[in-house]
Amino acid sequence: MQDRGRGAEWDALVLGGGGAGLGAALTLARARRRVLVVDGGEPRNASAAHSHGVLGFDGSPPSVLLERGRAEVARYDGVLRRGEARAVERMDDGFLVAFADGGTTSARQLLVATGVRDELPDVPGLAEQWGRGAVVCPYCDGWESRDARIALLATDEGGVSRALLLRQWSTRVVLLTHDAFEPSRAHRRALEARGVEVLPGRVEQVLSLGDRLTGVRVAGERRTVDRVFVTPRAVPNDALLRMLGAATTERGAGVFVEVSRAGATSVPGLWAAGNVVDPSLKVATAVGDGTEAGAAMNEALVALDTEAALADALARTG
Ligand SMILES: Cc1cc2nc3c(=O)[nH]c(=O)nc-3n(C[C@H](O)[C@H](O)[C@H](O)COP(=O)(O)OP(=O)(O)OC[C@H]3O[C@@H](n4cnc5c(N)ncnc54)[C@H](O)[C@@H]3O)c2cc1C
Repeated sequence: MQDRGRGAEWDALVLGGGGAGLGAALTLARARRRVLVVDGGEPRNASAAHSHGVLGFDGSPPSVLLERGRAEVARYDGVLRRGEARAVERMDDGFLVAFADGGTTSARQLLVATGVRDELPDVPGLAEQWGRGAVVCPYCDGWESRDARIALLATDEGGVSRALLLRQWSTRVVLLTHDAFEPSRAHRRALEARGVEVLPGRVEQVLSLGDRLTGVRVAGERRTVDRVFVTPRAVPNDALLRMLGAATTERGAGVFVEVSRAGATSVPGLWAAGNVVDPSLKVATAVGDGTEAGAAMNEALVALDTEAALADALARTG
């Protein structure tokens, strides 16, 4: 008979069933923990037709990996539900979580793997192309853009290094500064040396013909491009972590909840993994992040189980 924690309904509750949450849930379920995954069903890459650079799943629709992951969790008696966690509070021996449908549940350990919301620059036509002609990640869509006319829509001077990176996939890269910054002399020299054109002025529109992105309009002029790379502002879905007082840190991309390598937050029993704490993680690394957190959560439970067993033994023997 496995140890069953006292009080709480679940050993581990995983909020968010993307790669990070499912990676954790699989590890926990295989460690014979009672695991519940509650997922809103809106992974970050939902608008993309294919996932790239994901070993074993390269070129598959994002849903394929998630469907397989859910089946694997269920195979070890992990339970999966659709839902949205709205509020959380600490109990003596874990956490009490409330859902949008009015239900509640409790767990000894809680993992938040709720991802981010991408806030695109306010350019007409951009949102309609998101995940198709307008993309975020050179390693995910660089190959598919090879030798194409690529525009990098910059939102700050980090656009310079991203434009130089994209030059790896195509000789036809144009950096759209979008009035966000003025490249320094050193930056201009580097861009020129690599043959990256700099186009100043505000990007007024992303142009499409039917489903296909055809260009951009910058300061009144139309420029034909095949692909626009853009770095949205990644806003973490971390309200639940903040509700519990988890410490945060500045990460360059913004303020994110601080975690150890295994995903421990500053609040005992509260864990976080995937894009919600690191927006740069890709599918494979988000799965890895969750997998590490799942193992660490199980080990935290082992420590609690041992502590409780020792206390019981002491009570019996006086
Ligand atoms: C357009 C686009 C294309 C991409 N293409 C690639 C690619 O080709 N290859 C690659 O490796 N990476 C790609 N990525 C990155 C990839 O999307 C992320 O690395 C990955 O989704 C991160 O996984 P995650 O589990 O951290 O978060 P997500 O996959 O975003 O999962 C988070 C889950 O939590 C749920 N959730 C949120 N709030 C709650 C709540 N309160 N209660 C319950 N559930 C909640 C959401 O509905 C969602 O299902 C792409 C990203 C974008 C934007």
